[in-house]
Amino acid sequence: MTKQIAILGSTGSIGTNSLRVLEALGEDYQVYGMTAHNNVKLFAEQVRKFLPKVVGLTNPKKLDEFRGYLGDSDVEILCGADSLTEISGSADVDIVIGAIVGSAGLEAILKAAKAGKIIAIANKEPLVIAGELLMATAKENGAVILPVDSEHSAIFQSLHAGDSDEVNKIILTASGGPFRGASAETIAGATIAEALAHPTWNMGRKISIDSATMMNKALEIIEAKWLFDIEVDKIDVLVHPESIVHSMVEFVDGSVIAQLSGPDMCLPIQYALTYPKRVRGITRHLKLEEIGLLTFEKADMEIFKALKLGFEVGRVGGSAAAVFNAANEMAVEEFLAGNIKFVTIVDLIEHCLSKHNINKNLTLEELLAADAWARREVTECLKKSR
Ligand code: NAD
Ligand code: MG
Repeated sequence: MTKQIAILGSTGSIGTNSLRVLEALGEDYQVYGMTAHNNVKLFAEQVRKFLPKVVGLTNPKKLDEFRGYLGDSDVEILCGADSLTEISGSADVDIVIGAIVGSAGLEAILKAAKAGKIIAIANKEPLVIAGELLMATAKENGAVILPVDSEHSAIFQSLHAGDSDEVNKIILTASGGPFRGASAETIAGATIAEALAHPTWNMGRKISIDSATMMNKALEIIEAKWLFDIEVDKIDVLVHPESIVHSMVEFVDGSVIAQLSGPDMCLPIQYALTYPKRVRGITRHLKLEEIGLLTFEKADMEIFKALKLGFEVGRVGGSAAAVFNAANEMAVEEFLAGNIKFVTIVDLIEHCLSKHNINKNLTLEELLAADAWARREVTECLKKSR
């Protein structure tokens, strides 16, 4: 049976890699729908190549330009943010690939969970903001959430080696980002270009900055907590600059099971799409003799304060994670716009967390309100400091 796929955010780094994987997987997978926000030239090329039934253009200002690039096509065009939920909940869709960056993907992922879809999730922010609600919604409606984030795909694969009550801890690996080993002074004065220059992965701008602050790993701690229903105190972070061991699971008998492959997102994307089967794909196989050395070191939580905050927020739960995420999204935008210094990103997040009254067991509306509060708080804070 042909599987019908919806890609939310087809023009991004994960989106374009997903299309490469789907193309290689061949006729068993068909792109039913896809969405994009800004890059309408690429979006139109993708539509002409993959011939989806429906597309969602989330930025309405780009509609005329998109139609211009698209030319003659009978694809159904939906416009605006609602197109995301319409496509992710469509009865014709089997698998939803969540490849949007940030909280913008939250409602569409929740909708897919309500509709009982298979969700291949790269878009980690919805899991951070609303992990409890999302996992419960998925369970209630028979949806299956499969990780695409490379660390979580590795953990998911490693967990197959034992039962959940035999897990001692999860070891999340981190490349360390562009500022691994750098002094606090160097990091304080980091430019946008330096912060974007990831040593091993080629990714979108937001996650690249998150890797430089190590907020990415902090978000991944919370992502792992919800995906694998594990306490934060059973999660360790280990810096592994080669990005070959994508994460590990330590079982109670002391066995550590790891997943290894090159730094190529096509493999975790493919595994989520073909799960539980494995097939030959486009990812280059590892030649460990060429790599030679795999190294590991402790993460520096004094220099990378975000990591420490990630553990704290993960422990506390409730609305803290929504605030943590939203403050980061805002601060990263401000940094990328050249308005704040690199160190200010984490300072702003810390400020919002210290001012926030944490609530537990929240509805979607309440979580969105916490997200909106943090965004306002960042704006206010920056206004005062100017
Ligand atoms: P990206 O910036 O390259 O692409 C983002 C996509 O989201 C684009 O298609 C864009 O059109 C869409 N988008 C942006 N703003 C939107 C909005 N307001 N409404 C609707 N759509 C919007 O990002 P990426 O690097 O592909 O990352 C996507 C997600 O996957 C992120 O959550 C990231 O943390 C996660 N992830 C990425 C990688 C990677 O290698 N890039 C690895 C692991 C996890
Ligand atoms: Mg990751």
